Amino acid sequence: MKRVELECINCRTRIPLTKTVAGCPRCGEVILEARYDLSDLNVEKWRKELARRPHNLWRYREVLPILNTENIVSLGEGDTPLIKSQALAANLGLKNLYIKDERQGPTASFKDRQATVAISALKELGIDEVVVASTGNVAIAYAAYCARAGIKLWSFFPSLTPNEKMREAALYGAEVIKVTGTYDQTKELAAKFAARREIFLDRGIKSVAAIEAMKTMAYEIAEQLTETMGLLNDDLAEQQPWRAPDWFIQGVSGGMGPIGVGKGFRELYDFGIIDRMPKLGVVQSIGCAPMVEAFERGQSIATPVDNPRTVIATLATGNPGRAYELLYDYVSDYGGTFVAASDQEAFEATRVLARSDGISVEPATGVTFAGLFKMVQSGVIKPDDVVVVNCSGHTLPVELEILDEQWHRQFDLTLRTHGPTLPQEGLISALEQMSQTTRRVVVMEDNVDAARLIRRLMQARGAYEVQLAHDGATGLQLVQSERPDLVITDLMMPGVDGFAVIERIKSDPELQQIPIVVITAKELTARERAWLNEQVDLLLQKGGSIDEELVETLVTKIE
Ligand SMILES: *Cc1c(COP(=O)(O)O)cnc(C)c1O
Ligand SMILES: [Zn+2]
Repeated sequence: MKRVELECINCRTRIPLTKTVAGCPRCGEVILEARYDLSDLNVEKWRKELARRPHNLWRYREVLPILNTENIVSLGEGDTPLIKSQALAANLGLKNLYIKDERQGPTASFKDRQATVAISALKELGIDEVVVASTGNVAIAYAAYCARAGIKLWSFFPSLTPNEKMREAALYGAEVIKVTGTYDQTKELAAKFAARREIFLDRGIKSVAAIEAMKTMAYEIAEQLTETMGLLNDDLAEQQPWRAPDWFIQGVSGGMGPIGVGKGFRELYDFGIIDRMPKLGVVQSIGCAPMVEAFERGQSIATPVDNPRTVIATLATGNPGRAYELLYDYVSDYGGTFVAASDQEAFEATRVLARSDGISVEPATGVTFAGLFKMVQSGVIKPDDVVVVNCSGHTLPVELEILDEQWHRQFDLTLRTHGPTLPQEGLISALEQMSQTTRRVVVMEDNVDAARLIRRLMQARGAYEVQLAHDGATGLQLVQSERPDLVITDLMMPGVDGFAVIERIKSDPELQQIPIVVITAKELTARERAWLNEQVDLLLQKGGSIDEELVETLVTKIE
């Protein structure tokens, strides 16, 4: 029989797992950690058995705080894919960037993990009504799992939360209370309401359920990285450690995600299943970055932000309390950093991620990626590092912030219709008009991923038909056959290089009018530079990354 106790992270008092626990009875600390008596667990046998179990979060049940598996309330959460980034990774110069796609859970964020553990625990404790305060995703996940468990949920939201998210909680049958105030104030109000009505408040067991639930990401990441990247050494597979990444990166509000993941890696380390601890990259929104500010001042205690200035509700915890101290300790022990990104940088990163890797996220995860970009640019993350990003939260409810007015083209058929059939002529001429505005571009670049990224960004920007060539000879053929409106070329390419390509285009009377843009990472001599400035329309030294700003510059040459 499994034994679980709760341990106060402050004074280390141990208490049994019961519903009356709302914090440490001795010192009042609200963060408690589950401790398991695993003296009977044979780690080697367990690993073998894990390989045979169904792929969901509960496959790690030995290290989860539920005593009777009949109490588990599940929607098939966990085992989200670990996706290897291609174009984005190439653009960042990272060899091993992995995206833990937590969007692919039942309610599209990693709060599914917290909900399955918390609501199962409530069921085990015989609780049938609960109060939660949330910036959105926790309440949505709780609402779904409470519906399944037959538990009544009161969900309190700050007014910053998008209405779409509140409506989703309401759809699952939760009571929705919208509070005009900050998230921290909303939490206080929810606590008062729960106390007055004597309803169970999530806060008491929250830290336990959240930390235990989030840690399953660490277990999955280690298993999946080992599957994808292979064992370090093929002999004796059963005794080989699993792989741990060099970095785990997450956008942080209350901090339970990385605290839980940190605990998960620590447990794996103590079991001897991994042989090193990853560093933590914690990212916050600049308008609400109490952890980053404290870290930059070298302080282990954060000063709360009273009035968060961000439109990204998911990350609007102004007072991180003890959570920051735990993360600070982790980073002091195993390495890592705290960085902040602005809302604008987050929206931009969201677009880049969607267009380069086909992954659409909510702005909170845009913050995560914007932070990742900074850690790479500042050299904190190295090209060979194995990096895993917690990619949580789908864009759908909140994409308003991310796209501008020109995101679509409109066709109004009602204006052209007189009677039951479509006037074919009018329709076709309208379609033709549309295709006439298409500009053709030839890109010569031997780095396939970089070339594809340019193409994707240009296609997303407007009606551009972009053809790629990975060497100069193919590129020249394309220019001759296509007569493009713009040529974009690299200088260093196999076979016919960029200099030769430019010379050939400029000496051909039929082609010499075509504007040429050179994008190069090559160190140029003064002579080369002077020659290029004579011949081409724009010379871009590629120190920075291929992004929308760069594409804006490119299209000025043909618009
Ligand atoms: C909850 C949430 C966060 C913040 O997580 P914490 O670990 O609690 O700070 C970040 N992004 C998304 C999408 C979330 O749902
Ligand atoms: Zn205590």
